[in-house]
Amino acid sequence: MVDIVSEIECENCGAALSINPGEIVSTCRYCGYTAVVGADKPFQLEHSLIVNNNNAASIENALRDWMREGFMKPEDLAKKSKILTLELRYLPFWLVPVDATSNYEGVLERVSPPSPRKGVIDRNYDWLVLGRKGAQFPTRDYSVPNTGKIPFDFKRIDSGANFLNSEMTGEEAIERAKDEVEVNQRFLAKQEVDQITSFNTNFRVDRPTYIHAPVWFSTYEYKGRSYSALLDGNTGAVLRADIPRTDFKMI
Ligand SMILES: [Zn+2]
Repeated sequence: MVDIVSEIECENCGAALSINPGEIVSTCRYCGYTAVVGADKPFQLEHSLIVNNNNAASIENALRDWMREGFMKPEDLAKKSKILTLELRYLPFWLVPVDATSNYEGVLERVSPPSPRKGVIDRNYDWLVLGRKGAQFPTRDYSVPNTGKIPFDFKRIDSGANFLNSEMTGEEAIERAKDEVEVNQRFLAKQEVDQITSFNTNFRVDRPTYIHAPVWFSTYEYKGRSYSALLDGNTGAVLRADIPRTDFKMI
C-alpha cells in the first residue's frame, strides 16, 4: 500500500499524480496514462472518455425544459424554481460485457393447479458499474452514449470540473456486475414462475472498459425547499430529478 499520496508519480511521464484517498486508478493529467495505483507491474488501462457538450447555461435550459413538461409537476415549477448549484463531474465507470445463462426450476402458481416449470434465461449485457463505493447514481437509467466516446484525452476535460477516479479495480467491477446481473436474471425468471426452487447462472465475462462520463449535478429551490437533479453532459438529458410533491385535496 502507498500511504504518501503526494509522492506518486506517473509511470509514463513522471508527473505528480493527484489521487484522493480511496482512489485506486490514476489518470495522469499531462499524458493521460491510466493505471492501477500500487500494482506490482504497472500496465496501461484502456480508457475512454464521453465528451461533455454542455455548459452551465445549456444545462439550466435543459433542466427548465424538463420542469415545464410531463405530468405530476407543479404548473409553476419552471417559473418559480431557482437553480442553486450546477457542477460538472467526470464519473468513472466500468463497462462490463457479460453473457449470462441461468437455468431455473420453479412452480407456476398463478394457474390452478400449480405446476412445476423449468427454463433457461440467456442474455448478453453491457453492464455499467460506477467505480465509486457508496455513491448514489442511477446507473440503470443511464446508458453510455454510442456517439461522443473517444480515447481518453485530458485536454478534452473541462477545466474547473471535478474529476473522480475509480475506487475499485476492473476485477472488483466484474464481481459487482455479476452480482447485479444475477439479480436481474432472477427478476426475469420471476416473470415465468412464481416460486423459484433452483437457480444457477453461468457467466462469460469480457475485459471491462474504463470510461469517464460527464454528469452535471444540480440543486434547485422551489417554494423554500431544495431538490436535486442529474443531467447527462453529453446529451443534456435529465437522468434523474426530484419532483416536488404537488398538493392535492382529497374529495
Ligand atoms: Zn503522465
